[in-house]
Amino acid sequence: MQEKIIIANWKLNGSMTLLHNLLKPIANFVNLNELHLKLIIALPFIYLYPALNIVMNKNVIIGAQDVDIHSYGAFTGETSINMLNDIHVQYVIIGHSERRLYHRESNDLIAKKFKIVKKFGLTPILCIGESENDSNLLKIEKICQSQINPIIDLLGKKAFNNSIIAYEPIWAIGSGRIPSLNYIKNTCDLIKNYVLKRQNIDEKSLSVQYGGSVDENNVREICQISSINGVLVGSASLFLSRFLKILSIVSMENEKLR
Ligand code: PEP
Repeated sequence: MQEKIIIANWKLNGSMTLLHNLLKPIANFVNLNELHLKLIIALPFIYLYPALNIVMNKNVIIGAQDVDIHSYGAFTGETSINMLNDIHVQYVIIGHSERRLYHRESNDLIAKKFKIVKKFGLTPILCIGESENDSNLLKIEKICQSQINPIIDLLGKKAFNNSIIAYEPIWAIGSGRIPSLNYIKNTCDLIKNYVLKRQNIDEKSLSVQYGGSVDENNVREICQISSINGVLVGSASLFLSRFLKILSIVSMENEKLR
């Protein structure tokens, strides 16, 4: 069975102080305790480079929270995949519900972002999920498929090779409410089966994570769902002691899988 991956999303939070007071102790903790984890921390663009220096030789991977669809040119204010590649960022979150909502990112635009991330050999972390009004399995299935299909249409049979999908019900993000474990399992299974049915890729090359109000109290039972490949943690990743607990719990669960 595959080990669980943890992705932390700092969103629009961070400072040089936080890098030293949060990222540094996390990186030290992971290494000192030899935790069995793949840990990716997604930061605002401006903190990527200093963060990469902080985690150098540590078992922590730094990721970006977005990327532009253009690799260079007259696109003021954007950050390109060339730039992320240049500083050796390896993972990029795309299609987060906050970008879909506040920046009106469409499924087609997100597919273009996915394409450019793959083209440069970085790993996309595609966020998909339904709103509260749509939280029955039939509607969820349709919505998730509509978020996945433009990517397959654009990139073909290998689109999701070496990719991560984070299933995040929008109503669970930042709300302190998580769906039932059955709901999480059924939806993640449905997503994985759908993608694998449409793709010519090895099952192991696609990770499906759950995200939405994951914390130190619920992470164990979520990670015990055998078919999910890990969790995406937002706000709980900003509190050192809470996040270290999450890391320890997931590492213990990974230990059992060895
Ligand atoms: C997220 O940012 O994708 C997220 C899951 O946030 P939170 O854990 O705060 O719900």
